[in-house]
Amino acid sequence: MKTAFVGLPCDIEALRKIEALVDQEWKKNLNLQIGLFCRENWAYTCFRALVEDDFGVKLNDVDKFDIKKKNIIAYINGEKREIPLEKSKPYVRIGCQVCIDFTAELADVSIGAVGTPPKWSTVITRSKKGQELVDKAAKEGYIELKPIEEVKPGVSLIRKIADEKKKENLAEANRRNKIGITPLHIKTLGEKNLEKIKKAAEGKDFFALERDVIDAGACISCGACEAVCPDHCVKVIDQRPELSNECSKEKCFECYLACPRTSLPQLLFEEMIFNGTKLVQGIGKCLNIYAARAADTHIHEKGQDGGVVTALLTYALDKGIIDEVISVGKGPEPWKPTPYVSTVANDLKRHSGTIYSHSTSIPKLRYKE
Ligand SMILES: Cc1cc2nc3c(=O)[nH]c(=O)nc-3n(C[C@H](O)[C@H](O)[C@H](O)COP(=O)(O)OP(=O)(O)OC[C@H]3O[C@@H](n4cnc5c(N)ncnc54)[C@H](O)[C@@H]3O)c2cc1C
Ligand code: SF4
Ligand code: SF4
Ligand code: SF4
Repeated sequence: MKTAFVGLPCDIEALRKIEALVDQEWKKNLNLQIGLFCRENWAYTCFRALVEDDFGVKLNDVDKFDIKKKNIIAYINGEKREIPLEKSKPYVRIGCQVCIDFTAELADVSIGAVGTPPKWSTVITRSKKGQELVDKAAKEGYIELKPIEEVKPGVSLIRKIADEKKKENLAEANRRNKIGITPLHIKTLGEKNLEKIKKAAEGKDFFALERDVIDAGACISCGACEAVCPDHCVKVIDQRPELSNECSKEKCFECYLACPRTSLPQLLFEEMIFNGTKLVQGIGKCLNIYAARAADTHIHEKGQDGGVVTALLTYALDKGIIDEVISVGKGPEPWKPTPYVSTVANDLKRHSGTIYSHSTSIPKLRYKE
């Protein structure tokens, strides 16, 4: 089974840690990681409170959400309601406030809106595998592709936002450090020795994870801890990992090791995964940056931006490069993000578009039902 995963930069960080450090049967299936750009995010309940309680917009009535310039925009029957992003700041997850990755710097392919005109997607290829997928999908007519230099606003805006995010959130990490709540992942970004990372995790069980990450306000509810627990005893409930059974394995520290907030040897992962690629300041290691859009008019129209995530994965499914995709669609509650497994292109299309709040999707790689 070959699985593609669509997620946010922090999801991809967690998956790279699992790939490098944790022994899991299911990780052998993970074949392709597509990362979305992300400036900040909200828990579903907070996003709903902002939109419904503060701005009187019923989630059920909204056809599409978008973020443009300084506003969250809700489209309702062709009308626009604007919610200033500034008003959403108090609702941003506290774990997001120490996140320094805007462009999914560890993904095979990163995709976002910033940098290209409306109804185009910005595509950053980072690994050889990601480049090959993009090249073939373009050659076989699934996507239209041009160098980012041919469109406006281009790379300078991506870099500006990426730099702003890094600066703002490093300052917050520094502030927390001064009051004794150290965001551990920031301290290890330059660590090149995996054995040291392992050694530092030794003997640290779920209670240590709770102390060092969850209660320290650094957890981003990625669910890596849930996905790796050999005893199946961790579950993320309402954004918080909880023990559902007794943590009984002796000398087990898998959850602590997998967590992208206990350590994140970013430079080492870049060397391991993207060896030989160029570094673009603020954006990370990459092979190429493009403006792209889906060639299929239905995928393009329904897509959040250029529909490129859906078009690339449709190509990969059609050609048997992958067998399934784990991505995020709407759940039973309006605009509640929910992870789904798609094995056919029609399911993928159903889940295209952006849902602006957080989904704990990683456990879906292990628990399909
Ligand atoms: C929370 C969030 C914040 C974002 N912030 C930015 C930003 O600041 N700047 C920027 O340029 N781009 C941002 N994006 C990315 C942007 O909204 C588009 O997803 C991206 O441009 C791809 O568009 P597309 O038309 O190519 O994708 P489509 O073909 O429409 O496919 C979208 C894909 O995203 C998946 N998806 C939808 N919601 C979620 C979710 N909550 N979590 C994980 N996957 C999801 C879908 O399953 C689908 O596979 C953000 C996305 C999310 C989910
Ligand atoms: S931690 Fe928050 S800001 Fe960072 S990538 Fe994840 S959802 Fe986005
Ligand atoms: S504690 Fe669990 S859910 Fe939270 S960041 Fe770490 S691995 Fe992810
Ligand atoms: S058994 Fe291991 S992975 Fe599971 S909660 Fe305990 S320490 Fe964490």
